[in-house]
Amino acid sequence: MFTSTLMKRCFWPFSKKAPFYKKPILVLMGAPGVGKGTYGKRLSKEWQMPIFSTGEYLRNMLKTDKSDLANQIRALVKAGNLVGDEIIMKIMERRLFNEENPTAKGIILDGFPRTVKQAELLDKLGKVKAAMNFFLREDILIEKLAGRRECEKCHIPYNISTIKRDGYDMDPLLPKKDVAICDACGGKLIQREDDTEKIIRNRLREYKSKTAPLEDYYKKKGIYVEFEPKRGVTDYPEIRSKLDSFIKSLGK
Ligand code: ADP
Repeated sequence: MFTSTLMKRCFWPFSKKAPFYKKPILVLMGAPGVGKGTYGKRLSKEWQMPIFSTGEYLRNMLKTDKSDLANQIRALVKAGNLVGDEIIMKIMERRLFNEENPTAKGIILDGFPRTVKQAELLDKLGKVKAAMNFFLREDILIEKLAGRRECEKCHIPYNISTIKRDGYDMDPLLPKKDVAICDACGGKLIQREDDTEKIIRNRLREYKSKTAPLEDYYKKKGIYVEFEPKRGVTDYPEIRSKLDSFIKSLGK
């Protein structure tokens, strides 16, 4: 199992003391479908902070890795269950300490941490500056997830659903030129394998039992801020300024 490509890629030698990531870490939390990837990608561009999504990393890795370990991970992701903390932590260490861009001002984490254990271990690797939690009603999340599409090449998120009720005002997020083709790279839009109703419900269950407790974890640290994005991408400027003033209020 330890000879798999994944482990080779992610293994940090136990004999070496793990280093400490010195730049600010921004954590984006929230249930599947809430939009954290979409907002995170925009923040990343504007703030020149790379974004790292553990889910996207796993999906890319699973495309080619056929090892036993990859097959076990594939089964978990396919069923909508969380992957074990040990594996995820190895992926995260590897990403934090192999800085792709030395001039980056920090890093945005999308979909990590997802358990209190992951958050505790992350605190040993670097300093989380702020944790922003996005929340939405469950029926809205289910509808958004069912409408979610992404570019198969560059993974830019799109959405075909229109949600207009009870104060929610979300227009579809579609490519401008051709509804089936990504504006940015010309890739085909696809629906993720785990965006089916049965798997969506399981992911939401996993979220409630294992990830929601993180809200209290970051509240106690005084670095928690939240937002309900009722208007989809239209909310982006408000999210950015709320986060910006929150980070400023925390000081150095
Ligand atoms: P979403 O937020 O829409 O559920 P992600 O792309 O973040 O999607 O994650 C997809 C899947 O990858 C999760 O359902 C889970 O199986 C796995 N995964 C991603 N990040 C983590 C993590 N930090 N811990 C455990 N499993 C993870």
